[in-house]
Amino acid sequence: MPVLTRLIPSPVVVDIRPGALDDLACVLADERISQSGRLAIAVSGGSGARLRDRVAPSLPGADWFEVGGGTIDDAVRLAGAIQGGRYDAVVGLGGGKIIDCAKFASARVGLPLVAVATNLAHDGLCSPVATLDNDAGRGSYGVPNPIAVVIDLNVIREAPVRFVRSGIGDVVSNISAVADWELSHRVNGEKVDGLAAAMARQAGEAVLRHPGGVDDDSFLQVLAESLVLTGISMSVSGDSRPSSGACHEINHAFDLLYPQRAAAHGEQCGLGAAFAMYLRGAHEESAAMAEVLRRHGLPVLPEEIGFSVDEFVRVVEYAPETRPGRFTILEHLALTTEQIKDVYADYVKAIGS
Ligand SMILES: [Zn+2]
Repeated sequence: MPVLTRLIPSPVVVDIRPGALDDLACVLADERISQSGRLAIAVSGGSGARLRDRVAPSLPGADWFEVGGGTIDDAVRLAGAIQGGRYDAVVGLGGGKIIDCAKFASARVGLPLVAVATNLAHDGLCSPVATLDNDAGRGSYGVPNPIAVVIDLNVIREAPVRFVRSGIGDVVSNISAVADWELSHRVNGEKVDGLAAAMARQAGEAVLRHPGGVDDDSFLQVLAESLVLTGISMSVSGDSRPSSGACHEINHAFDLLYPQRAAAHGEQCGLGAAFAMYLRGAHEESAAMAEVLRRHGLPVLPEEIGFSVDEFVRVVEYAPETRPGRFTILEHLALTTEQIKDVYADYVKAIGS
């Protein structure tokens, strides 16, 4: 008999709203994630201290662990500190580094993870991957999805606005990533997971078409939900394909070629996506995407994040090497340096200034 449906690994709780953090203990108890209140909470030493002061009174049974940074050593150290503490769950309370450390540590000690994101910089807050720095640079480690995702929009508003903008670029780039996936299907017969593609693309479209801005709650709500759905789309497909194509290869190339000068993840991905859409001949979509990115204060030209045209051409040329095996519009066109220069000049004309 065929399997008629499939189960999707996904969080039991997704709580996104202003004030969500104040109800954390109740939500975890109601959902039987932690009835005893015994929680291991990972926070950063810096901005985490303020949050800790605010949240600690409502979580009397919790132990707090300061996480040094975003390396594999930090994550292993955290796992060691938590081990044997008889906790119900690990809570990662912070930005990407803290949540990634907590994801890895919770997987290692066999406890569920509650992700409490304090900024919306990228789609990793609900994904089955922990990105951690190691001796070889940066590694992606497969981990279970969080059992709960809590995003307090009041806390998000306190984060630097650049972090919110970065999330916009990351989620809008899904549209380009899914187009790359479909291209690979047409050219190479790569299998596209329709559900994962639908979730990722709709998340991108929702943010692209939302008329609001980073200052209003209805926009932040849609952005946060879109980032969560993007993370789950990666669980559905089993890899980062729904949210990572030429846009992310360009982002990785910025990071690897210019590690000291690289901009935020979503800034580079958004620029990469607008350019990749132009490359694939979707000129109107590229211009529309660039217009939205501009409206939110995101870069659409390399100069806007401090890179010359020649440096950007080098980035685009190098990008395919950052992700061997992933087929995108960059691998498909395999442009020469001169061709990249020409098409970039056309892109600049097309999006206007
Ligand atoms: Zn990303």
